[in-house]
Amino acid sequence: MQLPSALLEQAVNEFSKLPGIGKKTALRLVLHLLKQEPEKVEAFGAALLRMRKDTHICQRCYNISDSLLCSICSNPMRKQELICVVESIRDVIAIESTQQYNGTYHVLGGIISPLDGVGPDQLYIEPLVKRVQEDGIQELIFALNPTIQGDTTIYYIQKKIQPSTVKVTTIARGIAFGGELEYADEMTLARSLQHRMPVENLKV
Ligand SMILES: [Zn+2]
Repeated sequence: MQLPSALLEQAVNEFSKLPGIGKKTALRLVLHLLKQEPEKVEAFGAALLRMRKDTHICQRCYNISDSLLCSICSNPMRKQELICVVESIRDVIAIESTQQYNGTYHVLGGIISPLDGVGPDQLYIEPLVKRVQEDGIQELIFALNPTIQGDTTIYYIQKKIQPSTVKVTTIARGIAFGGELEYADEMTLARSLQHRMPVENLKV
């Protein structure tokens, strides 16, 4: 791509480093910014910089936060004795969007995956075990992707917290809403049967 300005090219290069942004899209975004008032572009840049410099990782659950404890951990209305264990901050955002969960979270920062060189020590598993042992936790809900790595991680943590009276559950696995039975793989279909639920629990 031949650009008439080295500065323009530099900006395009920076944008195209973002996930899902190719050179053409980067150019479109940069040209859009070029048309804006300088103050607007300054505010745009400042917001990014502040986000990067001033956000923290919550000391308790490893969610993203503007202070040492995140807005969920410091909210007395949330059930602090309930922990939903997730892989990443994106999962917290996804579950929060459902507005159906009133407990806290624990972000592992990944899942155990020996093939990718990720072992338990690289994840926030120890602090989770500590929370379970010291904070009067009543239930751990695993909301990890239903994969071998996800199950390995659940198994590992489940062993690690023993002996314990904490209830350990995973989110249901089955046919996706709007999905079709005949296209579901056998494992999903089998699990859907295993985890069948009473019809009165259906929310229509
Ligand atoms: Zn937190």
